[in-house]
Order: sequence, then structure tokens, then C-alpha cells
Amino acid sequence: MRILIANDDGIYSPGIIALAEVAARFGEVRIVAPDVEQSSMGHAITANRPLSYLKTRVKEFDSYRVNGTPADCVAVGLHQWGGADLILSGINLGLNLGSALWHSGTLAAAKQAVLSGARGIAFSTAAEHEEPMFEKLQPHVEAVLKVLLRQPSLQLVNVNLPPEPKGIRWTRQSIRQYDGRMVQGKDPMGREIYWFTVVPVREAEEGTDRWAVEHGWISITPLRVDLTNDIELAKLAAAPTSTEGEK
Ligand code: MN
Repeated sequence: MRILIANDDGIYSPGIIALAEVAARFGEVRIVAPDVEQSSMGHAITANRPLSYLKTRVKEFDSYRVNGTPADCVAVGLHQWGGADLILSGINLGLNLGSALWHSGTLAAAKQAVLSGARGIAFSTAAEHEEPMFEKLQPHVEAVLKVLLRQPSLQLVNVNLPPEPKGIRWTRQSIRQYDGRMVQGKDPMGREIYWFTVVPVREAEEGTDRWAVEHGWISITPLRVDLTNDIELAKLAAAPTSTEGEK
């Protein structure tokens, strides 16, 4: 099995090494990742300049750095390798829960895999106060991969690991509104600057990704790339459209 590894923290992040070490127990591994950090870049692609794909050294792994986004890395990585069976992204230094999935570069790499016809799994862990203890998380990442490889119908999956997991929970995405506030300040030159902050507004609902991680569980959320609102579409399809009524 060919496993392509990407991330958004950059190719020299400790998280990508931890993930590649676990992935190597399951198949042939190649790392293709951004040359610098691309966190919160979402699913951006580089369309106005060319990309480079340069051999680099990440431990013993076959590794390439790309001057682009996480999605770019998966696209060029799949092209250069002639395809892969599985794309893993992470392990991100920081959780990717709830509404953060719209901004996540880690998840975008997994989404790009699915858009290209492969499977994509994103891994993230808490990293607010100190660097994660990846050696302690690796057995849990391996357990999650064993579970997910037995479920080939799950094409796009988002996995979040608390620092000391007590087990696995299947979850849905928390969709509570967040506080997307702009914090204003001044730079050392006295110029106005702005920081976009993303803080959950309320407590997470039971059964969601955020709830699981807050209670010490590994959260595994099956996702899909189809954004269609099926409930609204069914309502609209059942009723005549307003333009027909006006005729
Ligand atoms: Mn990141």
C-alpha cells in the first residue's frame, strides 16, 4: 500500500515525522509537504505561479518539499508518485474541531486526496501549551489507522487526539457558531494591526468532535465533500419554483 503523507505545519514539523513512522508500519511511505508553515490556509491552491518539488531529508523517509499549500502538496505528490492508496495529513500541532474545519489546512490535504479519487485522513492533536508527546500518541494513531483501514467506505475522515486518550468515539462535527472576533492592536511601529480569533461560543454538544476531545476521547468524524443541503433541496424539489408560478 502506498501512503502519501502531507501536513500544513511544514515538512520539518515533529508531527509529520510521528505520523510517517506509524504509517510505515502499514505500507510504503512518501512525504510531500509545504516548505514552510501553511496553517489556516484551508483548501487554497496556488494558481498564479509555478510550484517546485524538491527532494529533502526527513529522517529515513522519501521526502519532498513544495513551495505551496497543503492541497498543492497532495496534488503534486499524487502526480509525481503516479497515485497513492491513502493520503494521511498531520499530525497537526493543534486540534481541528467544529467550525475550524473550514479553515484547516490539515483537513484540506485530506479533502484534496478525496477530490483526486483517493482516501484522505487528517490527524490533529492538542498543542496549546507545550509540544505534544508524539511517542505516547503513536500507539493511538496506529490503533485508529487499524480501525479505519477496516472501513474502506470512509473516504474522508477527521481524527483528533487528546493528550492522553482513553479510547475512541465516532463523532459528528460540532457546528455551533464561534466567536470569530477581530482583536485590534498596534505593531512596534505604532501601526494598527488585527488578529482573527476563533473561540467556540458555547459548550460543545454531546456526540460532537469537540465534546469527545474535551472528555479525553479520540474523536473520529466521517466527513464528505458534498456540501449540498439535502433537506432544503428535497423541500425545494417537492414544490414548484417561484419563477414557474409567475408565468
Ligand atoms: Mn497546522
